[in-house]
Amino acid sequence: MQHIDPDITLVTPGAPLSAVTHGGRAKCLQRLVRLEMPVPVTVALSFDAVHRIAQGEMPDMGRLLAPFGPAPLLCVRPSSEDPDWGGPGAILNIGMNDAQFVDLSDRIGKEAAAALYTRFVQAYAIHVARLDPDAFEHVTQGGQDGLSEVLRAYEEETEEAFPQDPAVQLAEVLRSMARAWEGTTARLLRQAKGAPADAGLGLVVQAMALGLGLGESGSGVIQLVDSQTGAPRIIGRYLRESQGRDALERRNEAVFLAHDARGPSLEDLAPDAFAELKGITARMRARLREEMQAEFTIEDGVVHILDGVRVARSARAAVRIAVQLAEDGIIPREEALLRVEPRALNELLHRQVDPEADRDVLASGIAASPGAATGRIVFSAAEAQASAARGEACVLVRRETSPEDIRGMHAAVAVLTERGGMTSHAAVIGRGMGLPCVVGASALNFHIRARMLVAPDGRELHQGDIITVDGTNGQVLAGEPAMIEAAEDDALLTLMTWADDVRDIGVRANADTPADAQTARNFKAQGIGLCRTEHMFFEADRLTVMREMIFADTSPDRAAALDRLLPMQRADFTELFRIMQGQPVCIRLFDPPLHEFLPSDRAGHRELAEALDLPLSDVTRRVDALAEYNPMLGMRGVRLGITVPEIYDMQARAIFEATIEASRDGDPVVPEIMIPLVSAKREVELVKTRVDAVAAAVRTETGKNFTYRLGVMVETPRAALRAAEIAPHSAFLSFGTNDLTQMTYGLSRDDAGRFMSAYVQQNVFPEDPFHTLDQDGVGELLKIAAERGRSARPDLVLSICGEHGGSPESIAFCRAAGFDYVSCSPFRVPVARLAAAQLAV
Ligand code: PEP
Ligand code: MG
Repeated sequence: MQHIDPDITLVTPGAPLSAVTHGGRAKCLQRLVRLEMPVPVTVALSFDAVHRIAQGEMPDMGRLLAPFGPAPLLCVRPSSEDPDWGGPGAILNIGMNDAQFVDLSDRIGKEAAAALYTRFVQAYAIHVARLDPDAFEHVTQGGQDGLSEVLRAYEEETEEAFPQDPAVQLAEVLRSMARAWEGTTARLLRQAKGAPADAGLGLVVQAMALGLGLGESGSGVIQLVDSQTGAPRIIGRYLRESQGRDALERRNEAVFLAHDARGPSLEDLAPDAFAELKGITARMRARLREEMQAEFTIEDGVVHILDGVRVARSARAAVRIAVQLAEDGIIPREEALLRVEPRALNELLHRQVDPEADRDVLASGIAASPGAATGRIVFSAAEAQASAARGEACVLVRRETSPEDIRGMHAAVAVLTERGGMTSHAAVIGRGMGLPCVVGASALNFHIRARMLVAPDGRELHQGDIITVDGTNGQVLAGEPAMIEAAEDDALLTLMTWADDVRDIGVRANADTPADAQTARNFKAQGIGLCRTEHMFFEADRLTVMREMIFADTSPDRAAALDRLLPMQRADFTELFRIMQGQPVCIRLFDPPLHEFLPSDRAGHRELAEALDLPLSDVTRRVDALAEYNPMLGMRGVRLGITVPEIYDMQARAIFEATIEASRDGDPVVPEIMIPLVSAKREVELVKTRVDAVAAAVRTETGKNFTYRLGVMVETPRAALRAAEIAPHSAFLSFGTNDLTQMTYGLSRDDAGRFMSAYVQQNVFPEDPFHTLDQDGVGELLKIAAERGRSARPDLVLSICGEHGGSPESIAFCRAAGFDYVSCSPFRVPVARLAAAQLAV
């Protein structure tokens, strides 16, 4: 064997150790040593040394063993750079041999010494010598007979006696752990956890604290907070006469730590040791500036600290722990803000499937709106309403949703669709309502007429069957797994206040209805960045008037229908303004193609004919006349506003009258009016002229004055490129990145779901651009428009209101491009506030 001189470092306060050369565990142990905690003698092997061991070289065992004195008992544990990347399991009691057995028998008794030796031979045989576990796992007898049995089995399997030399044992352990790390399976596993392909492994060799003895002895773990809630509580287990992870693995034999009415505790058994452990863990928290779990051993009443690891935590606990550390003056507030992953807040804001629960996955789709909910399957909006009326939770299952399904979505606890992507109707509305939603679940066969779903494994699900939609990860589950409730506690509110103190980009919400606006306010959005007014027409009674308007052949007929819509819109806007209490509200004029408001099948046509008292043929003809080959690029947005200007006139009037109404008893309202789908300067001029005229008329009629801001929604590449000539007519530009992504790629936002996963898998797109802003392409248009717009009009307000507005990466992009605010669905506002704060820290 070739001898080398690798990096073998005794863990002392001043030793040159770092997490990137020796791993997180080695570094943490050094910190504990510096804090003068009772850590057994420890030697750290660097990544480099371990890599060379895997290649067949071996360190100088004399040098390695020297710090441990004669006849040591040792353990070896992995020390990867990030503890989450895992590593081979620890091996304990290395150095155990016949001579140790005699010695130990005197110290702890023959039975215990034999049990310890037996366990070591078993672990060595299975994990180091890699012998058949069947020959070792089932030792039939305990005590010395059991020991003889495993030693004999070892000899039979290897045709050699069990190695007695601690140096040989240790060398074999190091080699097997080093090789295990470099194996393909281990590499794939850690890469899945985010480790780089060449991540290194360090190893720590530590003197054993036995946990066995004639006085109080045992082992366990202790932490001072609850991992689920983050609330202060002494948590952990202690098992007498045990080692390593025994106390966790044999939980029902272990005892509590603090005094507990349910049973015995370490506090009762060994009050001094308990008090010392509490103090040590608290000191770790204060000095390592993190909530820690200590792994300890008690040997004849003496406490040893073997390791300290960051307490595992749910998102809820992460928030509470960070806030508490800052409130105790251990970390600054800015650091508390950085310690919480913004997206993890979704876990707090929505119900989730319990991570411990069994998941019976039927199929997966796109995780379009986070949170999970369980209900009975229904296949239509009407059935959803009937189900809600009976008080039964239901999941609305549709091929895709349309405005007609909104009432069904309100009645359902979750939505599942076969088609669509991140910006499809179901996804956008679902997120707005905070309704769990999975879209594009095309792996399931949707037989809507037969009222049946068929899973890829052939299972059939019928109307009334119970399923769970997990919109956080896109899974559709059979049955009703255990759930964890949303938990918006004081700690979150505190963290959010700190976030608002530091962030320097505004956060508004996309809110269409008074309910959305209330949610937006509750989440402390700084106004509404996008109110999609067409969503106000989806309620059944309004839909009928809307349809009358669409069916009007003459201008007076249309005016009559619009006159009926006016008070409804006015009331909506008045309520929105009141709820937002003087904060800005940006109202987008009508955007979708008209045919979206018409029924698509014959039964719907017949119903409409009855409602409007028209012959069926008239209805069918009108529906046909409005049909377009490519409605998303057709008569919608400002094109409709210019062709049928009465619609925008009515909306402008409703906005101004509501402004006067809401300003009467509160802060003066300054509404923002936004023109969608602009591609030419002239469109803005035409609309602006009419809106100004309506404003003048309302001022004259009422004798009241008010101001408003008119702006443009940048959703076409041309509008972005021509921003310099559009900006002088526009107080603000708001980027609708849903349509802008669709048009920049020439990629249908409603159909892309069909091939998006193939595209992402083959790396054509790094990610779904409707989900993650394409900073290279769409982002370049944003930057061009921002620069050109601001050069023409320096006070131009810039914002984003597409679905990307809530993602931390897009917020970083927008902030760097000098945007004033982002706007996202109300439930994403807290995520956006925290993400924005992290950028400013
Ligand atoms: C957009 O296109 O980005 C947008 C916000 O508008 P909508 O999703 O309503 O088309
Ligand atoms: Mg749009």
